[in-house]
Amino acid sequence: MAARHTASAPACARSHRAATLHKPPGTQKPRLFRPRFHWELLVCGVHGHELIGTDAAQLRPEETIVAREVAGVRWYRCVRCDSWLPLAPPAKPKWDLPPTRDEIELPLRGKALRDRVVLRIIAIDRAIHFLVLGLLAAAVFLFAAHEIRVRDVFYRIVNAVQGTNTSPAHPAQHGFLHTLERLFTLKSSTLYLVAAAAAAYALLEGAEAVGLWYQRRWAEYLTFVATLVFMPYEIYELTLTVSALKVAALTVNVLIALYLLFAKRLFGLRGGAAAEEERRARDVGWEALERTAPGSDPQV
Ligand SMILES: [Zn+2]
Repeated sequence: MAARHTASAPACARSHRAATLHKPPGTQKPRLFRPRFHWELLVCGVHGHELIGTDAAQLRPEETIVAREVAGVRWYRCVRCDSWLPLAPPAKPKWDLPPTRDEIELPLRGKALRDRVVLRIIAIDRAIHFLVLGLLAAAVFLFAAHEIRVRDVFYRIVNAVQGTNTSPAHPAQHGFLHTLERLFTLKSSTLYLVAAAAAAYALLEGAEAVGLWYQRRWAEYLTFVATLVFMPYEIYELTLTVSALKVAALTVNVLIALYLLFAKRLFGLRGGAAAEEERRARDVGWEALERTAPGSDPQV
């Protein structure tokens, strides 16, 4: 008896999980400690609902899962967030019938939608890195190319402001000026190398940003590897001085690496790309809409 109970428990948990997963977003009881983000509601909040047949004169019977007419009111189902919205039938319909299923590109839902939002947030982070590093590379290139002129201007301004007689022969002994002066003692070949390294790093971050924005698998691997490669340097930096910015940057990068590894199932982890595809098929598409339509069995 006990054995049979144990054997059926995982199946029971699975079907319960399937039922909760397929409840429309926003209708589930909020969890106390681990909030559940309804990505569909977030995206519908920004882009509006995705309704089908709002400008069609008539509805076909097969459209019942996305639009139906009850007592002179048209009920449309948002194909992203599953909300049903009552609207009057169109006064001046543009079409006789709504587009067929083949003509409709269904929006992302569930985990697939979450992944797109998260990957795009990481892409924006990488795009900011690209801009900052690109500007830095350009500034160092310019500085190296016009070092002597910049140095002359620098000393002229310093002497004019401070009334001193600082020059390369009589450098400042300490303080911020001293730090700035050390820049001028770097050879231009070193400066060019620093600029080239910054430019290469900027390009890497730029490639990650573009690939992640379009949800390319290679970009997920590239971002994971690049994040991991620079992590020892970030940790080394923290051993020198600790600042809130450095700690935040390292924490964000650790979270990104963990998300890519486990949630995006890199290197075949948790079933890899095949499991990812299966999950996507479960959440997105007409079959998912049919399964979660009112009156259907959510566990099928
Ligand atoms: Zn919606």
